[in-house]
Amino acid sequence: MLGAYLPGDRTVDLRGVPDPAPGFGQVVLEMRASTICGSDLRAIYREHLGEGPEAYQGVIGGHEPSGQVVETGSGVTRLRVGDRVVVYHISGCGQCDECRRGYQISCASPARAAYGWQRDGGHADFLLAEERDLLCLPEELTFLDGACVACGFGTAYEALCRIEVSGRDRLLVTGLGPVGLAAGMLAKSMGASTVVGTDPSPDRRRLALEMGAVDSAVAGSDEELGNLLGDGAETSVDCSGSGAGQLTALRHTRRWGRAALVGEGGTLSVDVSEVIIHRQLTISGSWVSSTWRMAELLDRLARWRLHPERVVTHRFALTDADAAYEVADTGIGGKIGIVWPDAPRGRTR
Ligand SMILES: [Zn+2]
Ligand SMILES: [Zn+2]
Repeated sequence: MLGAYLPGDRTVDLRGVPDPAPGFGQVVLEMRASTICGSDLRAIYREHLGEGPEAYQGVIGGHEPSGQVVETGSGVTRLRVGDRVVVYHISGCGQCDECRRGYQISCASPARAAYGWQRDGGHADFLLAEERDLLCLPEELTFLDGACVACGFGTAYEALCRIEVSGRDRLLVTGLGPVGLAAGMLAKSMGASTVVGTDPSPDRRRLALEMGAVDSAVAGSDEELGNLLGDGAETSVDCSGSGAGQLTALRHTRRWGRAALVGEGGTLSVDVSEVIIHRQLTISGSWVSSTWRMAELLDRLARWRLHPERVVTHRFALTDADAAYEVADTGIGGKIGIVWPDAPRGRTR
């Protein structure tokens, strides 16, 4: 099979490698969709920056995989050949407190391995996965929907649940990359009456409006946000990962409001008394999602008839993975996906 490796220096290395074979408790997926994430660009594609859970170990890239089971190992009890699945992209130890809560993302065991970071990911024709890391993809959703849920939509949904977005609330989204687009779309399905988005890029603001992810999109000055939100939105989520975006989100959350920070990176400098204490804010840090919350999201998306693939602006075949990464690196599009035809391809092993 073909697999895409990310050696750094903005390069993609396509290699022929043997098809994987499943061991105990494992399955092999025929890949159908594998989207590219901002963190792939930030910590792997441009240069290998990550440490700890973000340290790339020279494996096949791609941590947002969705595909179909083509082979099961011994001890696999829940899944069968033909099942359509989404990969929760962190394989935890399964035994620590975080894993038991379903937050394998926060597993601190040396056994923890993220797909596309420390073990082979979805940028390949086939993927070897642990049965316990897989969530069933409802019939109503496409594989590309599933890939979008595996990281971006899961992350956005978790954050919106933490700040309990509902029909009582307006939402301010700072940063209109793929996670910001997801937050806007999901907030509307969860009942938010108004979604206001900010981004310094006019292209991203235009795209967010075209996709219906936000009701208004502005660069994010105090004047613009004051006009749109008055004393601030009841809820806010920062998806920018920049100190400026994070501060904008907090300053334009109204008194007693709830804010979530999900954009990775940035250094936040804030007048704590003026912005947080005196304004009685609740702030949640939220890192990706849990397996149970991701399963809940898949179920709700089917009910809401909301297709996350709406945020995908460019699709590429695996053989064009270098072009896919080049486009993703420009930051001008929405989500970039590597996709395969829907018909089964068969094994080469
Ligand atoms: Zn991701
Ligand atoms: Zn663990």
